[in-house]
Amino acid sequence: MFQALVVEKDEAGYRAAVKAVDEAALPEGEVSVDVAWSTINYKDGLAITGKSPVVRKFPLHAGIDFAGTVSASSDARFKPGDAVLLNGFGVGETHSGGLAQKARVKADWLLPIPAGLTARQAMAIGTAGYTAMLCVMALQKHGLVPGSGDLLVTGASGGVGTVAITLLARLGYRVVASTGRAAEADFLKGLGAAEVIDRKELSAPGKPLAKERWAGVVDAVGSHTLANACAGTRYGGAVAACGLAQGMDFPASVAPFILRGVTLYGIDSVMAPMAKRAEAWARLAKDLDLAKLDALTQEIPLAGALEAAPRILAGQVRGRLVVNVNA
Ligand code: NDP
Repeated sequence: MFQALVVEKDEAGYRAAVKAVDEAALPEGEVSVDVAWSTINYKDGLAITGKSPVVRKFPLHAGIDFAGTVSASSDARFKPGDAVLLNGFGVGETHSGGLAQKARVKADWLLPIPAGLTARQAMAIGTAGYTAMLCVMALQKHGLVPGSGDLLVTGASGGVGTVAITLLARLGYRVVASTGRAAEADFLKGLGAAEVIDRKELSAPGKPLAKERWAGVVDAVGSHTLANACAGTRYGGAVAACGLAQGMDFPASVAPFILRGVTLYGIDSVMAPMAKRAEAWARLAKDLDLAKLDALTQEIPLAGALEAAPRILAGQVRGRLVVNVNA
């Protein structure tokens, strides 16, 4: 038996609780993992509270990512004792996930923890931080270099935002952080933001085109914020859209795309191909300032995930939450 955050849905309704479960109840997979760390991402908040239909199979262990040690493997690529991480692929949605002391998964979904990162650091990064890196990679592949101009990061105090700021600042970009939390301005500057703006500047309905301010954008917010970010992007610039914290809608016009040649990159972390994941994780191990990662990370026990879920949806979590599933 082991502890897991189990999500159930039946006649009694939708509920999540930490419970003792039997190892025999784990889904099929070639690799069994003793999980050490998981995290709370925005999507975990949706899954645990049931606010959005993230979990599509019941009962299910929540947790879209984890890091731990292989305990058994029938796949030649992994052997007991290997340090591994997993994010996405429907884990925590349709396949029992990482907010549990044990997981059993497909070998194709696992990556070795990159050299230079501990399991805890890998999950301090977690899905949110890895998605931030996918956004950074998209902007770099577009051709943006530190001299290109200001980069806007929206949802700045959240998981994607804080890791994006930390990464971009270390790579030499001038970062403008958009946040609804004025009290976090010094924290965001400590991570490397050169300037902090009030998210109200971007969150209300705007014009099709605005002053050309941004060479590039990492957007975790969607809705009017994404529309205004596109409208304010300079000629030939790029926007990497990964989130929907304000909303899933995109009330924009085509003007930035057809008049300024702006490119909108869609960033998906869940089904991203393995080669791209491996590149992102290797880049994270190399480019992320681990002291700053530590500064933006708080640790909670497994049961703490229940309380953290509504807080992340309310935009009240600063940076990243790592979950010690054995505490
Ligand atoms: P967080 O909750 O940590 O960060 C989201 C941030 O957005 C908040 O901290 C807040 O920042 C801002 N925000 C919250 N509500 C609003 C609002 N109503 N209007 C404007 N801004 C708001 O979540 P994550 O960083 O984990 O995830 C961010 C988004 O990215 C989520 O929508 C998530 O689903 C998505 N995501 C997508 C992935 C993909 O594969 N495409 C992978 C990972 C995440 P502040 O207080 O600074 O304003």
